[in-house]
Amino acid sequence: MIRVKIKKAIKKAMEMACPMATQDLKLNTKNRDAAIHAEHIQYGPLNVDEPGDYWKDIAEYWNTTIDAAKKSLCSNCVAFDISPRMIECMPGPVSDKDGILGYCWMHHFKCHSARACRTWAKGGPIEKNDISHQWQEKAAIDEGV
Ligand code: SF4
Repeated sequence: MIRVKIKKAIKKAMEMACPMATQDLKLNTKNRDAAIHAEHIQYGPLNVDEPGDYWKDIAEYWNTTIDAAKKSLCSNCVAFDISPRMIECMPGPVSDKDGILGYCWMHHFKCHSARACRTWAKGGPIEKNDISHQWQEKAAIDEGV
């Protein structure tokens, strides 16, 4: 009985630890690069000041306007986690002139609020620790290890 309780407590503690990609640069880069190159994700643009055709292409993908596409960013995506606990998981400062770094629960890497991707979904960001925990509990998918 006690052993079961300990096992459950350890499992819970591991589930609530910082996502591995926030602690492991190699894993984060691997997952981010996969999100950049996957046809169905296309995370970007690389440089928000020099986006090239990024907004035009993603607007075409969504059958919408460039203006509408530019309003569908990581910053307001349902998977974008900037809860206090996640900010503490980040290895350094998270803000710059364009926005803030957060964690993407869909693709498991540190993403920037001013970028976007093709799997964007309305409803974010995640700003509360309890919602962040819920995403982590349900994120039973492989983090890319
Ligand atoms: S937070 Fe949303 S928009 Fe940003 S990379 Fe993740 S799924 Fe895409």
